[in-house]
Amino acid sequence: MSDQATTLTKSEFSGNIFEPGDPGYDDARAIWNAMIDRHPAIIAQCLNVDDVIAAVKLAGARNLPMSIRGGGHNVAGHAVCDKGIMIDLSKMRGVSIDAENRLAMVEGGALWRDVDTASQEHGLATPGGLISDTGVAGLTLSGGIGWLRAKHGLSIDNLVAADVVTADGLLLHASADENTDLLWALKGGGGNFGVVTRFLFKLHTIGPEIMFAAPIYSVEDGPGPIRAWRDFLAKHGDRVGSLCEFSTAGGEDFPEESWGKRVYTLACVFNGDAAEGEFLLQPLRELGTMVTDFSGRMNYCDTQQLFDTLMPEGEYRCYWKARYLTDLSDEMIDLALKNAQSAPSDNSLCSLWNFGGATMKVAADATAFGDRTMGWMYSLDGVWSDSKDDEANIEWSRAGWSSAESHGHHGRAYLNFPGHGEDGDSLTRVSFGDNYQRLVEIKTKYDPKNRFRFNQNIQPEG
Ligand SMILES: Cc1cc2nc3c(=O)[nH]c(=O)nc-3n(C[C@H](O)[C@H](O)[C@H](O)COP(=O)(O)OP(=O)(O)OC[C@H]3O[C@@H](n4cnc5c(N)ncnc54)[C@H](O)[C@@H]3O)c2cc1C
Repeated sequence: MSDQATTLTKSEFSGNIFEPGDPGYDDARAIWNAMIDRHPAIIAQCLNVDDVIAAVKLAGARNLPMSIRGGGHNVAGHAVCDKGIMIDLSKMRGVSIDAENRLAMVEGGALWRDVDTASQEHGLATPGGLISDTGVAGLTLSGGIGWLRAKHGLSIDNLVAADVVTADGLLLHASADENTDLLWALKGGGGNFGVVTRFLFKLHTIGPEIMFAAPIYSVEDGPGPIRAWRDFLAKHGDRVGSLCEFSTAGGEDFPEESWGKRVYTLACVFNGDAAEGEFLLQPLRELGTMVTDFSGRMNYCDTQQLFDTLMPEGEYRCYWKARYLTDLSDEMIDLALKNAQSAPSDNSLCSLWNFGGATMKVAADATAFGDRTMGWMYSLDGVWSDSKDDEANIEWSRAGWSSAESHGHHGRAYLNFPGHGEDGDSLTRVSFGDNYQRLVEIKTKYDPKNRFRFNQNIQPEG
Protein backbone atom coordinates (compact mmCIF):
# COMPACT_ATOMS: atom_id res chain seq x y z
CA MET A 1 0.00 0.00 0.00
CA SER A 2 1.42 3.44 -0.92
CA ASP A 3 2.17 6.26 1.53
CA GLN A 4 -0.89 8.27 0.62
CA ALA A 5 -3.27 5.36 1.24
CA THR A 6 -1.54 4.49 4.50
CA THR A 7 -1.93 8.06 5.68
CA LEU A 8 -5.64 7.95 4.92
CA THR A 9 -6.07 4.65 6.75
CA LYS A 10 -4.15 5.63 9.84
CA SER A 11 -5.61 9.07 10.27
CA GLU A 12 -9.37 9.04 9.89
CA PHE A 13 -10.56 6.26 7.66
CA SER A 14 -12.45 3.27 9.05
CA GLY A 15 -13.46 1.67 5.72
CA ASN A 16 -11.42 -0.27 3.17
CA ILE A 17 -8.76 1.15 0.90
CA PHE A 18 -7.83 -0.64 -2.31
CA GLU A 19 -5.03 0.19 -4.72
CA PRO A 20 -4.00 -1.59 -7.94
CA GLY A 21 -2.65 -5.03 -7.04
CA ASP A 22 -4.39 -5.23 -3.64
CA PRO A 23 -6.58 -8.28 -2.98
CA GLY A 24 -10.17 -7.10 -3.48
CA TYR A 25 -9.22 -4.24 -5.84
CA ASP A 26 -10.68 -5.89 -8.94
CA ASP A 27 -13.91 -6.81 -7.16
CA ALA A 28 -14.29 -3.28 -5.83
CA ARG A 29 -13.85 -1.64 -9.25
CA ALA A 30 -16.31 -3.99 -11.01
CA ILE A 31 -19.75 -2.55 -11.66
CA TRP A 32 -23.00 -3.64 -13.29
CA ASN A 33 -21.98 -3.11 -16.95
CA ALA A 34 -19.38 -5.79 -17.73
CA MET A 35 -17.87 -3.52 -20.43
CA ILE A 36 -16.47 -1.07 -17.90
CA ASP A 37 -12.83 -1.77 -17.06
CA ARG A 38 -11.32 1.25 -15.35
CA HIS A 39 -8.49 1.49 -12.83
CA PRO A 40 -8.81 4.07 -10.06
CA ALA A 41 -5.59 5.07 -8.27
CA ILE A 42 -7.42 4.55 -4.97
CA ILE A 43 -10.76 3.03 -4.09
CA ALA A 44 -12.01 4.42 -0.79
CA GLN A 45 -14.77 2.09 0.38
CA CYS A 46 -16.47 4.22 3.02
CA LEU A 47 -18.42 3.06 6.07
CA ASN A 48 -19.63 6.42 7.33
CA VAL A 49 -19.74 10.17 6.71
CA ASP A 50 -16.32 10.75 8.31
CA ASP A 51 -14.79 8.30 5.83
CA VAL A 52 -16.38 10.20 2.95
CA ILE A 53 -15.03 13.51 4.29
CA ALA A 54 -11.54 12.01 4.69
CA ALA A 55 -11.57 10.59 1.14
CA VAL A 56 -12.78 13.87 -0.37
CA LYS A 57 -10.09 15.80 1.52
CA LEU A 58 -7.44 13.35 0.30
CA ALA A 59 -8.59 13.97 -3.29
CA GLY A 60 -8.22 17.71 -2.66
CA ALA A 61 -4.76 17.34 -1.14
CA ARG A 62 -3.59 15.16 -4.05
CA ASN A 63 -5.41 17.21 -6.67
CA LEU A 64 -7.20 14.12 -7.94
CA PRO A 65 -10.65 13.92 -9.53
CA MET A 66 -13.26 11.71 -7.88
CA SER A 67 -15.88 9.29 -9.10
CA ILE A 68 -18.77 8.29 -6.82
CA ARG A 69 -20.16 4.77 -6.65
CA GLY A 70 -23.70 4.32 -5.37
CA GLY A 71 -25.39 1.19 -6.71
CA GLY A 72 -22.94 0.86 -9.63
CA HIS A 73 -25.73 0.65 -12.25
CA ASN A 74 -24.78 3.59 -14.44
CA VAL A 75 -24.31 2.04 -17.87
CA ALA A 76 -21.69 4.64 -18.85
CA GLY A 77 -19.69 3.46 -15.84
CA HIS A 78 -19.51 6.91 -14.26
CA ALA A 79 -19.00 5.26 -10.86
CA VAL A 80 -15.43 4.22 -11.73
CA CYS A 81 -12.62 6.47 -12.94
CA ASP A 82 -9.15 5.90 -14.30
CA LYS A 83 -6.39 7.24 -12.05
CA GLY A 84 -8.57 9.30 -9.69
CA ILE A 85 -10.19 8.39 -6.36
CA MET A 86 -13.30 6.23 -6.47
CA ILE A 87 -15.50 7.04 -3.49
CA ASP A 88 -17.37 3.81 -2.98
CA LEU A 89 -20.56 3.99 -0.89
CA SER A 90 -21.61 0.38 -1.46
CA LYS A 91 -21.22 -0.37 2.27
CA MET A 92 -23.44 2.56 3.30
CA ARG A 93 -26.90 1.08 2.73
CA GLY A 94 -28.76 1.94 5.92
CA VAL A 95 -32.43 2.94 5.77
CA SER A 96 -34.54 4.14 8.66
CA ILE A 97 -38.23 4.90 8.52
CA ASP A 98 -40.13 7.56 10.43
CA ALA A 99 -43.60 6.09 9.87
CA GLU A 100 -45.37 8.80 11.82
CA ASN A 101 -44.01 11.60 9.65
CA ARG A 102 -43.88 9.40 6.53
CA LEU A 103 -40.19 9.92 5.89
CA ALA A 104 -37.37 7.58 4.86
CA MET A 105 -33.75 8.36 5.74
CA VAL A 106 -31.57 6.57 3.22
CA GLU A 107 -27.77 6.29 3.12
CA GLY A 108 -25.98 7.24 -0.10
CA GLY A 109 -25.08 3.68 -1.15
CA ALA A 110 -28.49 2.08 -0.58
CA LEU A 111 -30.27 0.11 -3.28
CA TRP A 112 -33.99 0.44 -4.03
CA ARG A 113 -34.54 -3.02 -2.52
CA ASP A 114 -33.31 -1.65 0.83
CA VAL A 115 -35.78 1.25 0.73
CA ASP A 116 -38.75 -0.80 -0.50
CA THR A 117 -38.28 -3.53 2.11
CA ALA A 118 -37.92 -1.12 5.04
CA SER A 119 -40.78 1.18 4.01
CA GLN A 120 -43.22 -1.64 3.14
CA GLU A 121 -42.94 -2.89 6.73
CA HIS A 122 -45.07 0.20 7.46
CA GLY A 123 -47.25 -0.07 4.32
CA LEU A 124 -45.35 2.84 2.79
CA ALA A 125 -43.19 3.45 -0.30
CA THR A 126 -41.55 6.19 -2.36
CA PRO A 127 -41.11 6.12 -6.15
CA GLY A 128 -37.95 4.23 -7.16
CA GLY A 129 -36.90 2.35 -10.31
CA LEU A 130 -38.01 -0.90 -11.93
CA ILE A 131 -35.08 -3.04 -10.80
CA SER A 132 -34.42 -3.58 -7.12
CA ASP A 133 -30.62 -3.48 -7.15
CA THR A 134 -30.32 -0.10 -8.86
CA GLY A 135 -28.77 2.50 -6.56
CA VAL A 136 -31.03 5.06 -4.92
CA ALA A 137 -28.41 7.78 -5.39
CA GLY A 138 -27.67 7.73 -9.12
CA LEU A 139 -31.28 7.04 -10.07
CA THR A 140 -32.63 9.85 -7.91
CA LEU A 141 -30.03 12.47 -8.75
CA SER A 142 -30.88 12.37 -12.45
CA GLY A 143 -34.67 12.07 -12.02
CA GLY A 144 -35.88 8.56 -11.19
CA ILE A 145 -38.64 7.02 -13.31
CA GLY A 146 -40.59 4.16 -11.73
CA TRP A 147 -44.02 2.54 -11.50
CA LEU A 148 -45.42 5.04 -8.98
CA ARG A 149 -44.78 8.10 -11.15
CA ALA A 150 -48.42 8.46 -12.24
CA LYS A 151 -49.61 9.42 -8.77
CA HIS A 152 -46.41 10.36 -6.94
CA GLY A 153 -44.07 11.73 -9.63
CA LEU A 154 -40.36 11.10 -10.13
CA SER A 155 -38.01 10.16 -7.29
CA ILE A 156 -36.76 13.75 -7.14
CA ASP A 157 -40.31 14.99 -6.58
CA ASN A 158 -40.23 13.12 -3.27
CA LEU A 159 -36.77 14.25 -2.17
CA VAL A 160 -37.18 16.45 0.90
CA ALA A 161 -33.58 16.96 2.02
CA ALA A 162 -30.04 15.60 1.65
CA ASP A 163 -26.68 15.62 3.44
CA VAL A 164 -23.85 16.35 1.04
CA VAL A 165 -20.05 16.30 1.38
CA THR A 166 -18.87 18.97 -1.02
CA ALA A 167 -15.56 19.14 -2.91
CA ASP A 168 -13.81 20.97 -0.06
CA GLY A 169 -14.82 18.28 2.45
CA LEU A 170 -17.64 20.20 4.16
CA LEU A 171 -20.79 18.37 5.25
CA LEU A 172 -23.83 20.46 4.24
CA HIS A 173 -27.52 19.91 4.83
CA ALA A 174 -29.70 20.83 1.84
CA SER A 175 -33.41 21.34 2.50
CA ALA A 176 -36.24 23.81 1.99
CA ASP A 177 -34.60 26.02 4.67
CA GLU A 178 -30.86 25.50 4.22
CA ASN A 179 -28.73 25.49 1.07
CA THR A 180 -31.89 25.58 -1.02
CA ASP A 181 -29.91 26.04 -4.23
CA LEU A 182 -28.09 22.78 -3.55
CA LEU A 183 -31.34 20.87 -2.98
CA TRP A 184 -32.75 22.29 -6.23
CA ALA A 185 -29.61 21.18 -8.11
CA LEU A 186 -29.71 17.67 -6.64
CA LYS A 187 -33.20 17.24 -8.09
CA GLY A 188 -31.96 16.20 -11.52
CA GLY A 189 -28.46 17.67 -11.72
CA GLY A 190 -26.73 14.32 -11.08
CA GLY A 191 -23.58 13.70 -9.06
CA ASN A 192 -22.06 17.08 -9.94
CA PHE A 193 -22.25 18.81 -6.57
CA GLY A 194 -20.80 16.45 -3.97
CA VAL A 195 -21.24 13.09 -2.31
CA VAL A 196 -24.76 12.62 -0.96
CA THR A 197 -24.35 10.64 2.24
CA ARG A 198 -28.03 10.71 3.19
CA PHE A 199 -31.33 11.31 1.39
CA LEU A 200 -34.64 12.14 3.05
CA PHE A 201 -37.68 11.00 1.04
CA LYS A 202 -41.43 11.50 1.44
CA LEU A 203 -43.37 8.22 1.79
CA HIS A 204 -46.87 7.31 0.62
CA THR A 205 -49.36 4.59 1.54
CA ILE A 206 -48.82 1.81 -1.02
CA GLY A 207 -50.06 -1.78 -1.09
CA PRO A 208 -48.93 -4.12 0.27
CA GLU A 209 -50.95 -5.65 -2.56
CA ILE A 210 -51.03 -3.82 -5.87
CA MET A 211 -52.24 -4.68 -9.38
CA PHE A 212 -49.59 -5.40 -11.99
CA ALA A 213 -50.79 -6.04 -15.56
CA ALA A 214 -48.45 -7.61 -18.11
CA PRO A 215 -50.24 -8.99 -21.17
CA ILE A 216 -47.70 -10.02 -23.80
CA TYR A 217 -48.38 -9.75 -27.53
CA SER A 218 -46.33 -10.76 -30.55
CA VAL A 219 -44.49 -8.10 -32.57
CA GLU A 220 -45.70 -10.00 -35.67
CA ASP A 221 -49.28 -9.07 -34.72
CA GLY A 222 -48.48 -5.43 -35.35
CA PRO A 223 -49.30 -2.14 -33.65
CA GLY A 224 -53.00 -2.61 -32.75
CA PRO A 225 -52.58 -3.40 -29.03
CA ILE A 226 -49.96 -0.65 -28.59
CA ARG A 227 -52.25 1.94 -30.13
CA ALA A 228 -55.10 0.85 -27.86
CA TRP A 229 -52.76 0.96 -24.83
CA ARG A 230 -51.66 4.49 -25.79
CA ASP A 231 -55.28 5.63 -26.04
CA PHE A 232 -56.09 3.93 -22.72
CA LEU A 233 -53.23 5.82 -21.01
CA ALA A 234 -54.45 9.12 -22.41
CA LYS A 235 -57.46 8.62 -20.10
CA HIS A 236 -55.79 6.88 -17.16
CA GLY A 237 -52.18 8.14 -17.15
CA ASP A 238 -52.74 9.87 -13.80
CA ARG A 239 -53.25 6.47 -12.12
CA VAL A 240 -51.23 4.03 -14.23
CA GLY A 241 -47.41 3.90 -14.48
CA SER A 242 -46.62 1.93 -17.59
CA LEU A 243 -44.23 0.93 -20.31
CA CYS A 244 -44.47 -1.13 -23.47
CA GLU A 245 -41.36 -3.28 -23.37
CA PHE A 246 -40.09 -5.07 -26.47
CA SER A 247 -38.11 -8.24 -25.78
CA THR A 248 -37.52 -11.79 -27.03
CA ALA A 249 -39.66 -14.64 -25.70
CA GLY A 250 -37.78 -17.48 -24.06
CA GLY A 251 -37.61 -19.66 -20.98
CA GLU A 252 -40.14 -21.77 -19.18
CA ASP A 253 -42.53 -18.89 -18.46
CA PHE A 254 -43.29 -18.60 -22.19
CA PRO A 255 -45.05 -21.22 -24.36
CA GLU A 256 -42.38 -23.16 -26.25
CA GLU A 257 -43.74 -22.22 -29.68
CA SER A 258 -43.02 -18.54 -28.91
CA TRP A 259 -39.35 -19.02 -27.99
CA GLY A 260 -37.05 -16.78 -30.01
CA LYS A 261 -39.92 -14.55 -31.22
CA ARG A 262 -39.95 -10.81 -30.61
CA VAL A 263 -42.79 -9.79 -28.28
CA TYR A 264 -43.96 -6.77 -26.33
CA THR A 265 -45.35 -6.48 -22.82
CA LEU A 266 -47.88 -3.79 -21.94
CA ALA A 267 -46.62 -3.58 -18.35
CA CYS A 268 -48.71 -1.44 -15.98
CA VAL A 269 -48.86 -0.75 -12.26
CA PHE A 270 -52.10 0.73 -10.98
CA ASN A 271 -51.29 3.46 -8.45
CA GLY A 272 -54.12 2.68 -6.07
CA ASP A 273 -56.38 -0.07 -4.76
CA ALA A 274 -55.50 -3.51 -6.22
CA ALA A 275 -59.09 -4.62 -6.91
CA GLU A 276 -59.93 -1.35 -8.66
CA GLY A 277 -56.73 -1.69 -10.69
CA GLU A 278 -57.55 -5.25 -11.73
CA PHE A 279 -60.88 -4.10 -13.11
CA LEU A 280 -59.47 -1.00 -14.81
CA LEU A 281 -56.54 -2.77 -16.49
CA GLN A 282 -58.57 -5.78 -17.72
CA PRO A 283 -59.21 -4.33 -21.24
CA LEU A 284 -55.45 -4.30 -21.90
CA ARG A 285 -55.55 -8.10 -21.61
CA GLU A 286 -58.20 -8.37 -24.31
CA LEU A 287 -56.51 -6.62 -27.22
CA GLY A 288 -55.76 -9.72 -29.30
CA THR A 289 -54.24 -13.16 -28.89
CA MET A 290 -51.75 -12.95 -26.07
CA VAL A 291 -48.47 -14.88 -26.22
CA THR A 292 -48.83 -15.15 -22.47
CA ASP A 293 -49.97 -13.00 -19.55
CA PHE A 294 -47.98 -12.28 -16.39
CA SER A 295 -50.72 -10.11 -14.86
CA GLY A 296 -51.85 -10.44 -11.28
CA ARG A 297 -52.26 -8.87 -7.89
CA MET A 298 -49.03 -9.07 -5.97
CA ASN A 299 -47.03 -7.49 -3.18
CA TYR A 300 -45.41 -4.19 -4.02
CA CYS A 301 -41.92 -5.51 -3.13
CA ASP A 302 -42.41 -8.49 -5.48
CA THR A 303 -43.38 -6.15 -8.31
CA GLN A 304 -40.27 -4.11 -7.65
CA GLN A 305 -38.15 -7.27 -8.15
CA LEU A 306 -40.04 -8.81 -11.09
CA PHE A 307 -37.61 -7.63 -13.77
CA ASP A 308 -34.43 -8.31 -11.78
CA THR A 309 -33.66 -11.62 -13.49
CA LEU A 310 -33.60 -9.88 -16.89
CA MET A 311 -30.73 -7.73 -15.70
CA PRO A 312 -28.17 -9.69 -13.68
CA GLU A 313 -25.23 -7.80 -12.18
CA GLY A 314 -21.91 -7.87 -14.07
CA GLU A 315 -22.96 -10.51 -16.60
CA TYR A 316 -23.73 -8.49 -19.70
CA ARG A 317 -22.17 -5.81 -21.87
CA CYS A 318 -24.52 -2.84 -22.19
CA TYR A 319 -25.18 0.34 -24.10
CA TRP A 320 -28.42 2.21 -23.34
CA LYS A 321 -29.88 5.39 -24.79
CA ALA A 322 -33.21 7.15 -24.26
CA ARG A 323 -34.95 10.24 -25.60
CA TYR A 324 -38.16 11.97 -24.66
CA LEU A 325 -41.03 12.06 -27.15
CA THR A 326 -43.64 14.78 -27.38
CA ASP A 327 -46.43 12.32 -28.36
CA LEU A 328 -46.66 8.69 -29.26
CA SER A 329 -47.80 8.83 -32.89
CA ASP A 330 -48.71 5.82 -35.03
CA GLU A 331 -45.49 6.42 -36.97
CA MET A 332 -43.42 6.27 -33.78
CA ILE A 333 -45.11 3.01 -32.78
CA ASP A 334 -44.27 1.53 -36.19
CA LEU A 335 -40.67 2.66 -35.81
CA ALA A 336 -40.42 1.08 -32.35
CA LEU A 337 -41.76 -2.22 -33.76
CA LYS A 338 -39.20 -2.10 -36.58
CA ASN A 339 -36.30 -1.33 -34.25
CA ALA A 340 -37.37 -4.15 -31.92
CA GLN A 341 -37.27 -6.62 -34.82
CA SER A 342 -33.73 -5.60 -35.79
CA ALA A 343 -32.06 -5.95 -32.36
CA PRO A 344 -28.93 -8.07 -32.89
CA SER A 345 -29.14 -9.56 -29.38
CA ASP A 346 -32.07 -11.48 -27.87
CA ASN A 347 -31.16 -9.97 -24.49
CA SER A 348 -31.76 -6.40 -25.65
CA LEU A 349 -34.88 -4.49 -24.70
CA CYS A 350 -36.50 -1.34 -25.94
CA SER A 351 -39.36 0.46 -24.28
CA LEU A 352 -41.96 3.17 -24.64
CA TRP A 353 -42.56 4.79 -21.21
CA ASN A 354 -45.62 6.93 -20.48
CA PHE A 355 -45.50 10.08 -18.39
CA GLY A 356 -48.53 12.07 -17.35
CA GLY A 357 -50.19 12.43 -13.96
CA ALA A 358 -48.02 13.80 -11.15
CA THR A 359 -44.88 13.73 -13.29
CA MET A 360 -46.20 16.44 -15.58
CA LYS A 361 -47.54 18.71 -12.83
CA VAL A 362 -44.11 20.03 -11.80
CA ALA A 363 -42.93 23.32 -13.32
CA ALA A 364 -39.77 23.24 -15.45
CA ASP A 365 -37.88 25.57 -13.10
CA ALA A 366 -39.05 23.86 -9.89
CA THR A 367 -36.31 21.23 -10.16
CA ALA A 368 -33.00 21.04 -12.05
CA PHE A 369 -34.48 18.18 -14.12
CA GLY A 370 -36.30 20.77 -16.24
CA ASP A 371 -39.23 20.62 -18.63
CA ARG A 372 -41.99 18.08 -17.84
CA THR A 373 -44.19 18.52 -20.88
CA MET A 374 -42.95 15.41 -22.68
CA GLY A 375 -45.63 12.74 -22.91
CA TRP A 376 -43.38 9.74 -23.46
CA MET A 377 -39.86 8.32 -23.45
CA TYR A 378 -38.26 5.85 -25.85
CA SER A 379 -35.33 3.80 -24.55
CA LEU A 380 -33.12 1.25 -26.29
CA ASP A 381 -31.21 -1.06 -23.96
CA GLY A 382 -28.51 -2.92 -25.88
CA VAL A 383 -27.58 -5.99 -23.77
CA TRP A 384 -25.24 -8.73 -25.08
CA SER A 385 -22.51 -11.13 -23.95
CA ASP A 386 -19.60 -11.27 -26.36
CA SER A 387 -17.12 -8.44 -26.97
CA LYS A 388 -17.01 -9.31 -30.68
CA ASP A 389 -20.63 -8.12 -30.85
CA ASP A 390 -19.91 -4.72 -29.27
CA GLU A 391 -20.02 -2.72 -32.47
CA ALA A 392 -23.25 -4.22 -33.84
CA ASN A 393 -25.12 -3.75 -30.56
CA ILE A 394 -23.91 -0.22 -29.89
CA GLU A 395 -24.79 0.68 -33.46
CA TRP A 396 -28.30 -0.75 -33.02
CA SER A 397 -28.97 1.34 -29.88
CA ARG A 398 -27.56 4.50 -31.40
CA ALA A 399 -29.28 4.07 -34.76
CA GLY A 400 -32.62 3.38 -33.04
CA TRP A 401 -32.15 6.44 -30.85
CA SER A 402 -31.30 8.64 -33.84
CA SER A 403 -34.18 7.23 -35.89
CA ALA A 404 -36.63 8.66 -33.35
CA GLU A 405 -35.15 12.17 -33.44
CA SER A 406 -38.00 13.71 -35.43
CA HIS A 407 -40.46 12.42 -32.77
CA GLY A 408 -38.27 13.80 -29.97
CA HIS A 409 -39.10 16.48 -27.43
CA HIS A 410 -36.78 19.46 -28.02
CA GLY A 411 -33.85 17.04 -28.45
CA ARG A 412 -33.91 16.17 -24.74
CA ALA A 413 -32.62 12.86 -23.41
CA TYR A 414 -32.95 11.05 -20.08
CA LEU A 415 -29.48 11.52 -18.60
CA ASN A 416 -29.66 8.27 -16.64
CA PHE A 417 -29.48 6.32 -19.92
CA PRO A 418 -26.42 8.10 -21.31
CA GLY A 419 -24.91 5.55 -23.72
CA HIS A 420 -21.24 5.57 -22.78
CA GLY A 421 -21.29 9.32 -22.29
CA GLU A 422 -19.97 10.14 -25.76
CA ASP A 423 -22.68 12.72 -26.54
CA GLY A 424 -21.17 14.76 -23.71
CA ASP A 425 -21.68 18.43 -23.14
CA SER A 426 -24.03 19.26 -26.00
CA LEU A 427 -26.67 16.69 -25.04
CA THR A 428 -26.37 17.63 -21.35
CA ARG A 429 -27.02 21.31 -22.15
CA VAL A 430 -30.00 20.55 -24.39
CA SER A 431 -31.49 18.18 -21.83
CA PHE A 432 -31.34 20.71 -18.98
CA GLY A 433 -32.72 23.44 -21.27
CA ASP A 434 -33.26 26.77 -19.53
CA ASN A 435 -32.02 25.36 -16.21
CA TYR A 436 -28.49 24.82 -17.52
CA GLN A 437 -27.14 28.28 -16.67
CA ARG A 438 -28.42 28.11 -13.08
CA LEU A 439 -26.79 24.69 -12.74
CA VAL A 440 -23.47 26.14 -13.93
CA GLU A 441 -23.70 28.82 -11.22
CA ILE A 442 -24.43 26.25 -8.51
CA LYS A 443 -21.66 23.97 -9.78
CA THR A 444 -19.24 26.91 -9.69
CA LYS A 445 -20.25 27.62 -6.09
CA TYR A 446 -19.95 24.06 -4.75
CA ASP A 447 -17.34 22.42 -7.03
CA PRO A 448 -15.35 25.18 -8.75
CA LYS A 449 -12.50 22.85 -9.74
CA ASN A 450 -14.85 20.26 -11.23
CA ARG A 451 -13.52 17.45 -9.04
CA PHE A 452 -16.82 15.61 -9.46
CA ARG A 453 -16.58 15.26 -13.22
CA PHE A 454 -17.44 11.60 -13.89
CA ASN A 455 -21.13 12.20 -14.57
CA GLN A 456 -23.27 14.11 -17.07
CA ASN A 457 -20.88 16.90 -16.40
CA ILE A 458 -21.86 20.51 -15.79
CA GLN A 459 -18.67 22.50 -16.19
CA PRO A 460 -18.07 25.32 -13.71
CA GLU A 461 -17.35 28.81 -14.97
CA GLY A 462 -13.70 29.57 -15.69
C1 LIG B 1 -30.67 -2.69 -14.62
C2 LIG B 1 -30.98 -1.22 -14.61
C3 LIG B 1 -32.28 -0.79 -14.44
C4 LIG B 1 -32.59 0.56 -14.41
N1 LIG B 1 -33.88 0.96 -14.24
C5 LIG B 1 -34.17 2.26 -14.13
C6 LIG B 1 -35.49 2.70 -13.87
O1 LIG B 1 -36.41 1.91 -13.74
N2 LIG B 1 -35.72 4.02 -13.76
C7 LIG B 1 -34.73 4.94 -13.90
O2 LIG B 1 -35.00 6.13 -13.76
N3 LIG B 1 -33.46 4.57 -14.15
C8 LIG B 1 -33.17 3.26 -14.28
N4 LIG B 1 -31.89 2.85 -14.54
C9 LIG B 1 -30.86 3.87 -14.76
C10 LIG B 1 -30.25 4.28 -13.42
O3 LIG B 1 -31.08 5.26 -12.85
C11 LIG B 1 -28.84 4.86 -13.62
O4 LIG B 1 -28.03 3.87 -14.16
C12 LIG B 1 -28.27 5.40 -12.32
O5 LIG B 1 -27.11 6.14 -12.62
C13 LIG B 1 -27.93 4.29 -11.38
O6 LIG B 1 -27.59 4.76 -10.11
P1 LIG B 1 -26.52 3.98 -9.23
O7 LIG B 1 -26.37 4.67 -7.94
O8 LIG B 1 -26.86 2.53 -9.24
O9 LIG B 1 -25.26 4.16 -10.17
P2 LIG B 1 -23.71 4.45 -9.96
O10 LIG B 1 -23.11 3.92 -11.20
O11 LIG B 1 -23.19 3.97 -8.67
O12 LIG B 1 -23.68 6.01 -9.94
C14 LIG B 1 -23.97 6.75 -11.08
C15 LIG B 1 -23.61 8.19 -10.86
O13 LIG B 1 -24.49 8.74 -9.89
C16 LIG B 1 -23.80 9.63 -9.05
N5 LIG B 1 -23.83 9.12 -7.68
C17 LIG B 1 -23.97 7.84 -7.26
N6 LIG B 1 -24.00 7.80 -5.92
C18 LIG B 1 -23.89 9.08 -5.49
C19 LIG B 1 -23.90 9.70 -4.21
N7 LIG B 1 -24.07 9.00 -3.10
N8 LIG B 1 -23.75 11.04 -4.16
C20 LIG B 1 -23.61 11.78 -5.29
N9 LIG B 1 -23.61 11.25 -6.52
C21 LIG B 1 -23.76 9.91 -6.61
C22 LIG B 1 -22.40 9.72 -9.56
O14 LIG B 1 -22.28 10.77 -10.49
C23 LIG B 1 -22.21 8.41 -10.26
O15 LIG B 1 -21.23 8.45 -11.24
C24 LIG B 1 -31.56 1.51 -14.58
C25 LIG B 1 -30.24 1.07 -14.79
C26 LIG B 1 -29.96 -0.28 -14.81
C27 LIG B 1 -28.56 -0.74 -15.07
